[in-house]
Formats: sequence, structure tokens, C-alpha cells
Amino acid sequence: MGTQVQKHFDQLPDEMFSIVQATTAGIGARLGRLVLPGRAVIETPHYLASTSRGVVPHITPDNFVRSTSIQGVYVGLEDFLGARRTPPVAPPAANPNTAGTIAVCTAVGFKALHSDDYIEGVQHVQPDIVLSLADVPYGRALGNRRVERAVDRSTQWLNDHVEARRQASMPQAKLFASLLPVACRNQSYYIESVRDHAAKDVSGLVIHDLSTLENLPMELGPLPRLGFTSPATPQEVLRHIRLGIDVCTIPFTSEATDNGIALSFAFPAPNDVCRDEPLPLGVDMWSIEHAADCSPLTPDCGCYACTDHHRAYIQHLLSAKEMLAWVLLQIHNHHIIESFFRSIRRSLVEGTYNRDVERFQQAYESQLPAKTGEGPRVRGYQYKSEGPGEQRKNRPAYNTLDDRKEAVAGSKSVKLDADSNTLQQQGFAEKQL
Ligand SMILES: [Zn+2]
Repeated sequence: MGTQVQKHFDQLPDEMFSIVQATTAGIGARLGRLVLPGRAVIETPHYLASTSRGVVPHITPDNFVRSTSIQGVYVGLEDFLGARRTPPVAPPAANPNTAGTIAVCTAVGFKALHSDDYIEGVQHVQPDIVLSLADVPYGRALGNRRVERAVDRSTQWLNDHVEARRQASMPQAKLFASLLPVACRNQSYYIESVRDHAAKDVSGLVIHDLSTLENLPMELGPLPRLGFTSPATPQEVLRHIRLGIDVCTIPFTSEATDNGIALSFAFPAPNDVCRDEPLPLGVDMWSIEHAADCSPLTPDCGCYACTDHHRAYIQHLLSAKEMLAWVLLQIHNHHIIESFFRSIRRSLVEGTYNRDVERFQQAYESQLPAKTGEGPRVRGYQYKSEGPGEQRKNRPAYNTLDDRKEAVAGSKSVKLDADSNTLQQQGFAEKQL
């Protein structure tokens, strides 16, 4: 963080998050403004683009600036040194969280990250917002006894984090408290501690499960709510916002891109939709039907992919496994999500949100199209290895043609430096004169 920004930090009013308009007196959809030092104001509801190894997948920094209008990203320190990605890779049963550590998936396998190292690490990196470490066991449920332990650990880690911030001399990132993925009444001791720190040190909440929003104490109501609730469809995004999420990550954006799907939904839904034939949420660009189609991915889309290229080109790029295919799809898909959130905010301003959500649900299919083609190569940090004998995640790009398999199998004596006559004699290939 530069000195100019640091100066800013002291001059800014305390109001980091302000609620512009609420739809209910309790916890529910609302419009807000998130003001972070040295950054453009983020109008909420909004989304954060998920990153992998520090970048939005397929988008280089120059394309990020030139061809997207993404306003915020979420980076899991796990990709470098510490806390979890979103969505996280579930650790094997042999690597549970402990009293002082959480299990993280790093470049060199699963490691135990100590809470002290996490606090020191994030102070060093200086992001705009930092999430407190919580004992969230991904991939398994929190039973009663386990919740008690999670409450104790998370309270301890939050207190340690607040203490370390108080002792640090430099300006600190905004601290958001990670709540456990259970109802508030089941983590009341921890919630009390969050409430104690809310006046001074805790600036926001991280919601891992929607059940936490039930009976959220009124005192915590004004804090911005960052959702890691993994909505799987735009319909779920609409529901999570209705339940009170202000900012969330949307894992299905990059997933659709990897699957060769161009998102195609708009909010509110078009007026003239036939109820018997719901609209698709996305277009499968692997389909050969686009091979000669010179139209954009979606009509009237203003993104770089749609204004400079057409479906036939993107279909060709996918078939040829050119990585530009995924770059263009990712630019388009983020543009669709950006427009979706802009329209959500407009709908809230106009007071038509509930009606618009209902119309969206009637107009669109309930699931994104299924994947039909092969995505880009899956990397080790994107899945958990099941051990020896596991099926290969990535099919080899090149295979021996069927009619050559036998010849190759029967020619074990073929040497790479054999001349063309020898290779022909052994049936390995034919010479063309
Ligand atoms: Zn587009």
C-alpha cells in the first residue's frame, strides 16, 4: 500500500459501509455503499471475482484493465501461504483443523497454517479487507461437540487478531469476522465476542452459511455481509441477496467459462417468455451448431468478446483448444454478471425486486447447461487427489491413431534415430517419395 493511500486512510470518515435503502426492518435485501481507502466506491449488492493463484482465471492483468469492469476480487492466501480459496478444496480426513491451525491446500500439498502466521501474513500483504480466521471444517458437517470446539478456537483467533492489530503501528486492513456455518444461537459465545469488537475493530461479517443470517443480532445488522455461500445459479444469487447478503463470490462464473458455456441471462427477464419453454441460462459454445454463426454470444452484449468476435470464431477456438476461447468466454461471463448486479440494484431502487425475481424464476431454466466438451487442463490445486490408481483428470491432447496402434505395439525395436527405410520396413510409417 503506497504512502498516498496511507495518508488517505487517516482522513477518511469512519463510515466504511452505509446502508442506502433497506427492504425490511430485519435482515433482508438492501442497497449499500462500500467505501475503501483509495478505491472506487462499490455499490452493493455486488460481487467479488474469484481468483486462482492471485488472478481471475484466463484473464491477464492487461485484459483485466482493458476488457472487464470487475471492481473487486477475492484472493485466498492459501494460494500463496495461508487461508482458504473460494470454493475451497476439502482437505483429506487426516488433515483436520487443530486448536492453533487450519488445514490449507498450498502449492506443495496440504499444510497446517498457524493462526499467528496467518495474522502476520495478512499484515504483510495489506489487502483492503482481511477475513478473520475461523475454524470452518470444509467438506464435513459441524456436529454439536465440534461446534463447541469451533466456537472456542474462532473466538481465540479473533481476539488474537484484534490484539495484534492494536499493537501494530501501521494502518490496518478492514477486518471482517468469519462466522461459523451454523445458526447464530449455536455460536452465541463467539457472536458475543464479535459484538464486543464490532464497535472498533470488526468492520464486517463473513457468512459461510445462510442459516447464520437467521436471528443475527440487531447490533450486527449495520455491518456489511460478505457471502461465501457458493450460489450455483443466478436464481440462488437472487435468493441469497433477498436473505441479506451484500457482497458475494460467484464460483459458477469461472466454472461456466471452463465448461465452454457463455452465460446468457438478463435481469429482469424479458417480457415475452413462453412459460412452457424457459430460456437457457447459458449457451454451450462447444455445440457444432455455432460453427457458422456470425452472431455475438448474446444479442446486444457490449463486452469485448461480443463486439469484436462472433460465435463461429469462439466455437472454432474451443474445438482447437486455443486458450483464447476461455479468455473471451471469461470476459463475456463477467460482463453478464456485472450487468446482472447492476440490474439487481436498479430493481431494489425501484422497489420491484420481489416481482422481478419471481418473473426471472418463471422465465429461465433452473440449471446451467451441462458441460459437453473438455475444459482447460485441471491443476493440482483445483481438486483433492484420491491417491494411487486414480483416473487421470486430463486426457492426453495427442493419441496414437487406431490403425497405427498395432504397428507401434509390434515395433518395440524402433529407435528414434532409425532411418526412414528401417521405419517403413517395421511398419511404423510410410515413406512418401
Ligand atoms: Zn458479451
